Amino acid sequence: VTIRLDTDPFEVLHREHPEWRAWLRLLEATRSELDDPCWAEAVPEMPPGTGHAPLIDGAPFEMSGRILDRRLRGLLTIAAEAGASPSLAVAARRPILDAPAVFEAAIAADRSRLDALAGSVGAEGVAFAPVAAVAVVPLLQACARRWSPRVGEDWDHGYCPVCGAWPALAEARGLERERRLRCARCGDDWRTEWLRCPFCGNRDHLALGALVSEATAETRRAETCAACRRYVKTITTLIPTAPRDVAIQDLATVDLDVGALAQGYRGGDGLGHPVSVHVSGRSRWPRLPWAR
Ligand SMILES: [Zn+2]
Ligand SMILES: [Zn+2]
Repeated sequence: VTIRLDTDPFEVLHREHPEWRAWLRLLEATRSELDDPCWAEAVPEMPPGTGHAPLIDGAPFEMSGRILDRRLRGLLTIAAEAGASPSLAVAARRPILDAPAVFEAAIAADRSRLDALAGSVGAEGVAFAPVAAVAVVPLLQACARRWSPRVGEDWDHGYCPVCGAWPALAEARGLERERRLRCARCGDDWRTEWLRCPFCGNRDHLALGALVSEATAETRRAETCAACRRYVKTITTLIPTAPRDVAIQDLATVDLDVGALAQGYRGGDGLGHPVSVHVSGRSRWPRLPWAR
């Protein structure tokens, strides 16, 4: 599918990929939340991460527990209604669902903790984890908006300088064909060199290749590394993809994933550098002294 992002990308994807219904509904629901100021208010002014660690590493987030709870339950319900596991609808009604813990585990991409949290509310882990991953996107994008200016031009890693995820894709951008890596979680955008694998840093051009399909060879390809057997999708763009559209571009280029996976390459799932955060769901109103 070729998608012009000035048309409604969801309309096209819904039509072309009816099997993505639940996933697309989640992304749509998240998109309408991105501009809610509650996320930006939770982001500390100064990011804690230093050195090789992403900026988010060690960050404390304090938000209304009620908002976190409502957002997570809302997304679980949407996913269940769109045909993901019915166990998600059950989980959405369980009082013991611990939304701040789910946010922490999803930001850290800690699958075993997510599975345990899912299990505690009777949800299937394989259906629960993607909902949790989408739930943290508005908070992560608020982090990138606040902290991205602090990322030095000397950031030299393949993983996202803000949230630690591997890039979802690369852009060959502008007339200069600058190479920029893009994060589908926080939307961040960072420069990297051509002819260098973002995953293992390999610069041996004999080990670097590209998979192209004849129809779209000029505008998109999967760049492969024989050293680590991973690939990154590369699209040609004149202007940066908007942060909120990176996840859509990732879906719209799934033909490249299919091709690369069929050749035995792995994508960049998960994080390239571990991160740990603390999310506390304070109550909405300060506790009054006599209401202890
Ligand atoms: Zn990121
Ligand atoms: Zn590599």
